[in-house]
Amino acid sequence: MTAGILDGKALAVSLQTALKREIDDIRQQSGAIPVFANIVVGHDAGAASYAKSQQRTAEALGIDFRFLHLAATATQQELTEQIALLNNDRSVHGIMLHKPLPEHIDFQAAVNAISVHKDLEGMNVTNLGEMFLGNFHTVPCTPAAVMALLASSGIDPAGKDAVIVGRSEIVGKPLIHLLLQKNCTVSVCHSATSKAGRLAEHISRADILVAALGRPGLIRGEWVQPGAVVIDVGINSVAGKITGDVEFASAAERAAFITPVPGGVGPVTAVCLMKNGVELFKRQIGLGV
Ligand code: NAD
Repeated sequence: MTAGILDGKALAVSLQTALKREIDDIRQQSGAIPVFANIVVGHDAGAASYAKSQQRTAEALGIDFRFLHLAATATQQELTEQIALLNNDRSVHGIMLHKPLPEHIDFQAAVNAISVHKDLEGMNVTNLGEMFLGNFHTVPCTPAAVMALLASSGIDPAGKDAVIVGRSEIVGKPLIHLLLQKNCTVSVCHSATSKAGRLAEHISRADILVAALGRPGLIRGEWVQPGAVVIDVGINSVAGKITGDVEFASAAERAAFITPVPGGVGPVTAVCLMKNGVELFKRQIGLGV
């Protein structure tokens, strides 16, 4: 079997086209445009280039994407005060905090200071808790991208076995709830699963495999169940090339569908972030549900 490619770039273009149409319609009807504030603390070259690429995506959609740069020496208190100002600024509809942060800053505490109504990434503890209860207001964008790619493969997760490798707050854990909502049977593997030598055993049972561990090519193609859908979230730089967590060529021999890296989850994630923000914007101007 040679897998069908789940083309994230193509999916991102079609989602972006629909989103741009929606933003244009709102602007024409009300004159309002979405405004997102991005807080960057200190300087990290990788994060700066990622933030710039988000800005290009946003501006192509007609979103005002602003930066607030704070010095690496900014305290948690100063960051919280800046977030409070943005929370109270009615012209700003979405707020996100870029990682990595200086070590003395507690990311979760800072995100919890962002208003639930302006939490672009869906990482505020209230939004995460709502998701736990089955209320999907603002969903973290990488898990949302995984679900969009699955939907694009035409595979209904109901009754299927999904294995997520990686249990981070930003990818693995929220994805558990999104897959459960679709009546999937979900297992989560992590570093202790590998240490116990049981990763291959779990992966071989997966109808849907989501790799989000950040270990280049660690998931071997021969572990993949024939006919599985493989979503590779990993972004690793190896000898100057971006590569995923799954051995692509050998996995593609067995899978029914597979995402490439780059060009899979990444481009869809960027659009899901903008979609989150547009939903927040719509609610704030009285158009959302
Ligand atoms: P993280 O470091 O926070 O978490 C990694 C997880 O993988 C942990 O739960 C850990 O237990 C697990 N893990 C580590 N080594 C393992 C092993 N040998 N076997 C099994 N599990 C193991 O990482 P993260 O922020 O969730 O990111 C994971 C990967 O996804 C990274 O490559 C990151 O760059 C990428 N990522 C991509 C996108 C995107 O839009 N495509 C977004 C976020 C993260």
